[in-house]
Parts: sequence; structure tokens; C-alpha cells
Amino acid sequence: PARVRFAPSPTGYLHLGGLRTALFNYLLAKKTGGQFILRIEDTDRTRFVPGATEKLMDALSWAGIHPDEGPHHGGPHEPYYQSKRTKIYQDYAEELVKQGHAYRCFCTQERLLRVRESSQKTGRLVAYDKHCSYYTEDEIKENMEKELPFTIRLNTLDDTILIKSDGFPTYHLANVVDDHLMGITHVLRGEEWMPSTPKHVILYKALGWTPPQFVHLPLLMNADKTKLSKRSGDVHVEQYIEKGYLPEALNNFVALLGWNPNSEEEVFSPEELIEKFDLKQLNKSNAVVDIGKLDWMNKQHLLRRAQTPEGLESLVDLLQPMIKTSFETKIRNIRDIPQLCGYYFVEPDYDSDDAKALYKKLNKQAVDLALASTTQETLGSLESFDAVSIKQWIHELAELNNIKQNHLMMAMRYAVTGTRVGAGVAETMEVLGRPVCLNRLAHAVK
Ligand code: GLU
Repeated sequence: PARVRFAPSPTGYLHLGGLRTALFNYLLAKKTGGQFILRIEDTDRTRFVPGATEKLMDALSWAGIHPDEGPHHGGPHEPYYQSKRTKIYQDYAEELVKQGHAYRCFCTQERLLRVRESSQKTGRLVAYDKHCSYYTEDEIKENMEKELPFTIRLNTLDDTILIKSDGFPTYHLANVVDDHLMGITHVLRGEEWMPSTPKHVILYKALGWTPPQFVHLPLLMNADKTKLSKRSGDVHVEQYIEKGYLPEALNNFVALLGWNPNSEEEVFSPEELIEKFDLKQLNKSNAVVDIGKLDWMNKQHLLRRAQTPEGLESLVDLLQPMIKTSFETKIRNIRDIPQLCGYYFVEPDYDSDDAKALYKKLNKQAVDLALASTTQETLGSLESFDAVSIKQWIHELAELNNIKQNHLMMAMRYAVTGTRVGAGVAETMEVLGRPVCLNRLAHAVK
């Protein structure tokens, strides 16, 4: 049985490539009767984005990728947040220092910059000149007594930093220590991590541990062979949720990015994916993301669902909350539904006369506040994204900023629906769900 992990750094939304990495790990775990672990790699405090972890977990759970162990589920290796495990990494780093595999570096930023600059001039770029590795015991002791800030570096070719001066570990150390302690057997990750692997292997050796098996997944590309990026289209899972794709279709689609089922058949249910998945069938070449193919795939999965009464019911279930909240609006008969709750199905049209008319009436301060709210810890990390909590959140945000709650509600309504009529804004937001709301708030037109 494989013990595998998905180890995202919470710096934003779940990228399509991230979904694929998570899925492949999950499939391998399920296929072999092993465990899939979710570990949050949040030790780079400069890149930390509040709420990003919750967004990630929401997107994974939408996709049906449920961890066996992780922040929400617990497990034998808690905590699953690296920021809460700093002592563990520090202890191992100290051990490495004791054994001479690592050393303390007291160099200042200025000195490091000088080293780099002068090495650039000679054409032989070195990250660090090992200056501090030559200190005597006494010199080190003296520096420690003076409480000079220090980092801990691995004593190798490029003297990678293991512990930063803020006491937090770098990705390399934390990643290796946790993979070992958590009993990870296979590391499946994107090809962009390949350059780190030799360092990790050296670290495993220095710590006296056996490394797991490393598998690097091919890069995702646009049709024109450029790296998949925001500019070229949708890259976040949230955007695909918003567009109405089915989870099993998006999973099936990303599964085929870099993995070859070795059959004519390409449409697989989640169970079939588990059954068919095989590491040997991974491709080495880059995988092209073709949205036309996703559309086709989604249609196949819709048709599959429509074939059975339960499947059909599940599709109606998807629409139910939207229709239910909409009855609070001006709906008089069934035919009004598509017109009056269109915002559940398509992104708001901020250019419409309705949206523009609404926008004119808004309090500009409230608009700014609403649109900036996506970057705030609060909305992204509300424990439960239900109407009551959302109302409370709006209430507190308005109070904190000294603006009328009504004004803020109107601005939120504008951003998430683009229209004046609709159900209560908090109820609407609950039905739309966190990923869609955050996405709309981030893209609303001012
Ligand atoms: N924290 C890294 C990331 O953001 C993990 C890479 C790995 O799987 O080793 O993807």
C-alpha cells in the first residue's frame, strides 16, 4: 500500500496542475489500499495568504478528493500544518549541526549580497562561499552569546538553508522531515520540483533515512506550447466550478493530462479511474490543456448521469438550492425561473443596463470594501460558509469600517449577482458557494 501526500503551500487558489497532483496521489493511494495525506506547507510566512488553506480544502472536497489524514480529519501525525511543527524541524537541524552535516551561518544580508555580486563578476556563480563553515567552536559560541541572528545551512555544494533566521524551516528541510516522519512511500509532484530532488536525497542520506520513490509529473501547457498561465485562460479549479463543470468530468480531464489509460475509452467514472490508474502509464512529455476536450468530457459525464434515475436526480439536486432561494424573489411561475435566477448559472454581466444602474446607486466605499474582502482572512476562512455566518461577517465588516450594513450588502449583491433583484444576498452567497463568491468578488468590474 502506498502512503502518499498532497503538500500544497497555501498561496492562493488551487491550480489545475495542483488538482492533478492531488488526484494522482489520491488514485495511487486508493488503488493500492493505502492512505492519502493532506499536509499544509505554510512555513514561508512571507508568501502566506489568509484563507488560502480553506479555499484549497473546499476545492479538493468539491472534487471528491478526501484525505485519509489531514488538518480536518486528523490522524496519527498531527499537526498537519507545518507552521505548527517548527520545533520538530529545529531539532533535526540541530542534530545535523552536531553531526557536521550542517552549520550555523551568521552572515548579514549585505555580506551575502556582496558574495553573490563578486561571484557574478568572475562568472562562477556561487550562492554562498561557506564563510561561516570555517568558524571555530569558540567563535560560534561567542556569536551565539551575542545573540546574532543565524540560519542553518546544509554543508553541501550550494549550502542550502535549512532553518531561516526567523526559526522557520525552508521547504527542503520541512518537506523531507515530514515525508519521513509521516511514512510517505511515494512522492508524486510536478516537474517544477525536480531540481529540488537531489537536495532532498542528500538530506535523507545525512539524516540516515531511506528516501521515498520520487515521481515527477509533466508540466501543463497551453495549446501553443507555452506554460499554462493565468493569461491564457482559466487555471484555477474555482473557475471551472464556477463555469458549471461536473467534478467527475474535471477529474477525468486532468487525469488524462500526463497519464495514458492505454485504451480507446477515455471517459471514466471516479471508480474506474482508481481501477485503471497505473504509475507505469505516466507520460514524460508535457501535457496540453485543451478546453474543447474538457467540454466534450463534461458532456459525456452529463449524459452518463442522465442515464439513470439517481443520476438524473443528482443533476436536479445541483439545481435545487438555486431554485429554492429564488422563490423568495419575483418568481410568479416556473417560466420566470431561468430569467430571475440566471446569476446562479452564468457569471454576472457587469456591462448590462441592470448592473450599471445598480452600480450607480452604490456607496463607493462599500464597493471598495466588498471587492477587497476576498483578500481578507475573514471571508476566506469563515468556518462555515452559510447564510447566518455570512450575515454576521457582513455585519462585523460594516461595523469595523463604519459604513452602513445595507450599503455593504448592496455592494456584495452587485459583485456576486450583477443584478438588483434576487434572494437575500447572504442566502445567495451560501448557494453559490465560497469558491464562486470569491472568484466573482475578485473579478467584479468597478
Ligand atoms: N509545498 C510544495 C508545493 O507547494 C510541495 C512540493 C512537493 O510536493 O514536494 O507544491
